[in-house]
Amino acid sequence: MVINGVRVRPGQSINIDIAIARLPTHTLIDLPVFILRAKEEGPTVLISGGLHGDEINGVVTVKRLLEEEILSPVRGSLILVPLVNTYGFLSNSRTFPDGRDLNRSFPGSSRGSLASQIAHILTKEIIPQIDFGVDFHTGGRMLTNYPQIRVDYKDKKGVQLAEAFGAPFTLNSSMIDKSFRKEAFKSKKSILVFEGGESMRLDNQSVEEGILGIRRLLKHAGVIEDSIKEAKTLKLKESFWIRAKVSGIFIPTVSIGEQVRKGQMLAKISDPYGQVKVPVKNTSDGYVVGLNNSPVVNSGDALFHIGKIP
Ligand SMILES: [Zn+2]
Repeated sequence: MVINGVRVRPGQSINIDIAIARLPTHTLIDLPVFILRAKEEGPTVLISGGLHGDEINGVVTVKRLLEEEILSPVRGSLILVPLVNTYGFLSNSRTFPDGRDLNRSFPGSSRGSLASQIAHILTKEIIPQIDFGVDFHTGGRMLTNYPQIRVDYKDKKGVQLAEAFGAPFTLNSSMIDKSFRKEAFKSKKSILVFEGGESMRLDNQSVEEGILGIRRLLKHAGVIEDSIKEAKTLKLKESFWIRAKVSGIFIPTVSIGEQVRKGQMLAKISDPYGQVKVPVKNTSDGYVVGLNNSPVVNSGDALFHIGKIP
């Protein structure tokens, strides 16, 4: 295996820093990549976090896999990239300083924007090496996701990997143009997207579910030996958002992860004076897979992300 001109032999574990660019302060920014190779042949698996720089749960998940030495491959190889978007991480931002979203910048170019340059490095150096991968994300600001794997149900191999991962939920999610997942899939490589918690907020449950899922997936793939048991994921069909019909103070009456019925009241939205109270009704049987944590909402705001029961 050769990454960024560095040869990594079976049985070797090394860290490679891929130089990206300099900050305006001339501080060098690089992309640290951690490679663990077993002596025996087997699949190569990517585990990445922080593609969106403010989605810290994913960074912490991959960091903990490294620091707690949870993964010791007996077959194949692991490529861990705990923090893909250093720029966003520095500025508590999903994107790059020019506003570009790395996950809409693939395949990228060495002469493009910063996001495009990093996309190009991942396309050129990482995707060709891997068999499959898991990319760790979170919801947005004040928008939390219950731990879930997103995969396109048309990707049969991806669905099998999601079942082995065993997250609480698996959601059907079609691939977005110019995303990391779609770029990898062009070479028939499935990248599962894990979503858990919200941006800029540590959520231990999401981190734990991410670590357990990686252990189950890698055991299933024969990469690690582990005593962990299989877990059944609940596969949901398409998902939709219930939006606020009025503005006001948003008080949910159900919790994230909960099963909800069609017609059930999910929340109340009231004015600040105790005069008006409007119920928010559910429109389809399913599970609450995402929730707006903001206490104040505007008409049209996304409130509940509901994954439909198949
Ligand atoms: Zn993300």
